[in-house]
Amino acid sequence: MAKCREHVASLNVAIEEVDEVERIDFIGERKLVQTSMGEEYEAGAVIVCTGRQPRPFPVQTDFPNIHYCSVCDGTPYKGKDIIVMGGGNSGFDESLYLLNLGIRSIHIVETFPSCIAAPATQDQARATGKIAVSVSTDITAVDPLPNGRGLVHFHNKETGENYTEEVDGIFCFIGQTPNTALFDGVLELDHGYIKVNADMETNIKGVFAAGDVTAKKYRQITTAMSDGTIAALQAASFLRKYS
Ligand SMILES: Cc1cc2nc3c(=O)[nH]c(=O)nc-3n(C[C@H](O)[C@H](O)[C@H](O)COP(=O)(O)OP(=O)(O)OC[C@H]3O[C@@H](n4cnc5c(N)ncnc54)[C@H](O)[C@@H]3O)c2cc1C
Repeated sequence: MAKCREHVASLNVAIEEVDEVERIDFIGERKLVQTSMGEEYEAGAVIVCTGRQPRPFPVQTDFPNIHYCSVCDGTPYKGKDIIVMGGGNSGFDESLYLLNLGIRSIHIVETFPSCIAAPATQDQARATGKIAVSVSTDITAVDPLPNGRGLVHFHNKETGENYTEEVDGIFCFIGQTPNTALFDGVLELDHGYIKVNADMETNIKGVFAAGDVTAKKYRQITTAMSDGTIAALQAASFLRKYS
């Protein structure tokens, strides 16, 4: 990222930090953007790349080993025991991915009385013999231990039982929020993510989108950069044609 930034700076691209886009007007030919620092920008084309954020682990704790991406952070847990929070498709799919990395055991914890992941995936996960599932269960606290592990406190809402378990890490898959509140009612969205075509064009001419904020299957740095390249080339071509 430091190298990318150096490269962008070498092309004299201005970077405004700690400034948030608060208002947009994409209707006219000139696109308008207003920021929290009171700046106003006008342009013939805009690329939206506001990303998304994982819903944070809902328990206050000093335990450092809490993660939101198994592709990125799973490898160091080979041979170790982890908790996966969330029994949706992400929780089960990511658990299967994590098991393939050589993780010893996974305990999936779901707050509702049943898991909503596809039944076939749930069966596949249970058949490994390495994945335990607890439903109607909340994590109430996590104590960091001197051995680097975490002591997780559980509460079963059906039975009233409280119990603890030592683990090496926690992966939290309880949903993601795309940063699209600004564009609601302006850009066409799909489950909150911006709909784009293969040229990264949105439903508004001159407005493009790229990266995690778009509706797509795989969200990684490489896919975001690929989207960004396409969006930039298309935006340049759009400006050559229409301005
Ligand atoms: C914990 C974690 C670890 C990850 N590790 C890896 C990894 O190792 N390898 C990998 O390939 N991928 C990894 N990913 C995925 C990767 O980070 C994303 O796919 C990638 O960063 C997407 O780039 P983006 O530019 O679309 O969005 P982002 O990187 O999310 O950037 C969006 C930016 O827009 C800003 N923004 C949002 N709203 C506004 C606004 N209104 N005004 C101004 N700015 C705004 C945000 O603050 C943010 O800086 C990880 C993801 C997570 C959550």
